Amino acid sequence: MERTEISKLGEFGLIKHLAEKIAVKHPSTVKGIGDDAAVIDIGEKYLLISTDMLTEGVHFDLTYAPLKHLGYKAVAANVSDICAMNGKATHITVSIGISNRFSLEAVEELYEGINAAAAAYNVDVVGGDTVSSLSGLTVSITVIGEVGKDRIAYRSGAADKELLVVSGDLGAAYMGLQLLEREKAVFESTPGVQPDLAGHDYILERQLKPEARVDAVAMLEQLGIRPTSMIDISDGLASEILHLCDQSGTGCALYEEKIPIDPTVVTAASDFKLDPTLCALSGGEDYELLFTVALADFDKLKGSPHFTVIGHMVEGAAAQLIARDGTAHPLTAQGWDAFFKNRGEETEE
Ligand code: ADP
Ligand code: MG
Repeated sequence: MERTEISKLGEFGLIKHLAEKIAVKHPSTVKGIGDDAAVIDIGEKYLLISTDMLTEGVHFDLTYAPLKHLGYKAVAANVSDICAMNGKATHITVSIGISNRFSLEAVEELYEGINAAAAAYNVDVVGGDTVSSLSGLTVSITVIGEVGKDRIAYRSGAADKELLVVSGDLGAAYMGLQLLEREKAVFESTPGVQPDLAGHDYILERQLKPEARVDAVAMLEQLGIRPTSMIDISDGLASEILHLCDQSGTGCALYEEKIPIDPTVVTAASDFKLDPTLCALSGGEDYELLFTVALADFDKLKGSPHFTVIGHMVEGAAAQLIARDGTAHPLTAQGWDAFFKNRGEETEE
């Protein structure tokens, strides 16, 4: 029998491939595979369901991520997917695979973080599963939420000329990861050396204890704005913009100079000889919300320090990054093209 490497399809290619053979049977299934959460019609409201799994060595490294933070982050990442539908999370189930490397105290620490996040996001832990694992720790959380039928935002709703908006700032979680990885490497080559993390609180917090933007969802409602499309930024701005464009059937113009990046991220990026824009485009784990709004909503948004207009949708065109020098570049999932490669070489000299 033929053998195909999964790497040939990539994560999204694999999901697409599997989804082709999955048919929806119930009329109540409004949206199955393909958005941040599944959407089920339960009468007055829509029920939202989403799952996220984290595995040791791939998604987290316990040499620098405390178990308590890991628990918190796992919940936040799930709640973020409900926010991305413009909804409110209500319940979670928590499943763990643990090897005998983990003691009761270790699992308790993980649950301290899970419980802290459940309290912060006002969700009930209503079940889960516990299994043994041969290698390392796996944490899988399923979140349930709800949203008014007149409030829901899909990835597919963006239209020509609408404004592309992002909450908060981007690239910090990735810079935090770079810093932690660097200090881990230093520690491994010179045991006993204390990690040099001083003055980097913001990027470390963004990496180790990210928050789901439930506040941004509430603010949009208060401002009287219903996003026409929305997604959360777990994989990097570029990848998420491409999802919105792909599913909405439009292109967009993203302005580099508008991308919100914290000054401490710019400084840290320069230390690491990284391009800050590239960190925002392809870094990931920011858990900010990316959405589109009608042009008419601009006035409601413009005074808010929580939201930044970073571009607009363009029908019949590709997704493009307009660089600071005014040149246009195709946006790729890695946020990486010849443009950044060349610019990186220039700045390194
Ligand atoms: P997100 O980045 O928002 O967590 P993903 O990229 O993980 O979203 O998933 C995209 C869509 O694919 C979601 O609707 C998700 O439920 C679905 N999906 C992911 N993996 C599988 C799988 N193994 N089987 C079925 N559906 C999947
Ligand atoms: Mg998502």
